[in-house]
Amino acid sequence: MILTGGAVVASLAPVHITGNDVHVSDGRIVQDGGGERRDCSGCLIVPGNVCAHTHLYSALARGMPYTLEPPENFLQILQRVWWRLDRALDEESVRASALVGGMEALLSGTTTLVDHHASPTAIDGSLDVIEDALRTLGVRSILCYETSDRDGPERAQAGLRENRRFAERVRREKPPLTRGLIGAHASFTLSDETLAACADTARELEVGLHIHAAEDAIDERDSVVLHGIGVAARLAHAGALNGRTLLAHGVHLDDHEIALVHAANASLAHNARSNMNNAVGRARLDVLGARVALGTDGIGSDMFEESRTAYFRLREDDPGAGPDWPLRHLTEGARFVGAAFRERRLGRIQTGAPADLVVLEYAPPAPLNAGSFPGHWVFGLGSRTVRDVMVAGEWVVLDRRLTRADEQELAAGARVQADRLWKRLAEIGPHEFEPRGGRRWPSPLTIE
Ligand SMILES: [Zn+2]
Repeated sequence: MILTGGAVVASLAPVHITGNDVHVSDGRIVQDGGGERRDCSGCLIVPGNVCAHTHLYSALARGMPYTLEPPENFLQILQRVWWRLDRALDEESVRASALVGGMEALLSGTTTLVDHHASPTAIDGSLDVIEDALRTLGVRSILCYETSDRDGPERAQAGLRENRRFAERVRREKPPLTRGLIGAHASFTLSDETLAACADTARELEVGLHIHAAEDAIDERDSVVLHGIGVAARLAHAGALNGRTLLAHGVHLDDHEIALVHAANASLAHNARSNMNNAVGRARLDVLGARVALGTDGIGSDMFEESRTAYFRLREDDPGAGPDWPLRHLTEGARFVGAAFRERRLGRIQTGAPADLVVLEYAPPAPLNAGSFPGHWVFGLGSRTVRDVMVAGEWVVLDRRLTRADEQELAAGARVQADRLWKRLAEIGPHEFEPRGGRRWPSPLTIE
């Protein structure tokens, strides 16, 4: 396959643009290769976007009716929305959510999803269901199950077992598009025993732990009250903080904990829109450092939209931040995924890299070069410009259509499942789990 005539953004950070044709063979960018030609004249060819933290299971929640008292804080959002929804999920709704979530990811130019899955009444085999759905569409993914003690010890064990089973299988079989992490919910729903078991499993299997960390003040307070140390220190103490660890959010990490995260070389996934949507506070992007990737936390997988919102949110605090900021952090997401796949060139369009790329149909209204590209990214480009998408050398979107599935059919199937899911959900009351350490704090909890 040869992609001809496009302007190739070989790297997002630093921006590097060439006018060379892109040759693809056996799933990789190659120096020279023959085969079919795809005319990309008037287009930009960019590396596929990575969403470094998402929850595909939330795909069927769009427009879901809500009849309980309005939540006043993050814990109540979990108790009244997400911890009800996840218990209503069954295998078929997990499959449908992965299919439509994966479909929307590809159509918006996102080629890799780092997913964090929870379905406490359908745990066993759930990661295989997601893997199968994403493989059908051709989405690259890193999957894990959200181990938690909030639904009792049996489900905590089942969650850990599912992580281990899946991580061992993908380590053995090395499927081209999928890797595993060990997933855990968050410090405030994890006992010392469960957290230690997750950390030990991750170490033994040589994969990272993927966990929410200090997303809301309650997580941090619970850890301080119960364990005498903050969340990151607790993770470090459990042996769970290292260069493979992926922490989601990190909004309430203090200076000492940020130093621990940096010393461990752990990665953080910043989810600007989710932080705003859940009113958890603002991540301290000025001090969190370079190992910050961008995620959506389940608000779709459109990384153009996510990076744009993250940028504007940052600019409210720091008008000096440049439009290259989101590009640097998208690149960090690709680095994290590349490390998991042992593909250090992933995220770049260069010889030897996996051929994960997106063809954008875009007529720049101002000069486009390496210097101006970040401005075009933030103020002009978007998922509406996505024409074709390639993952591991295969076209998965061509002329704005999935190549391997029918979008209307997938959406219709998802609506049937969403309807059933919402009916089951109506029978489930607010979750009764309360953080043990959280009780000693005044209620409702307020953000400092
Ligand atoms: Zn999350």
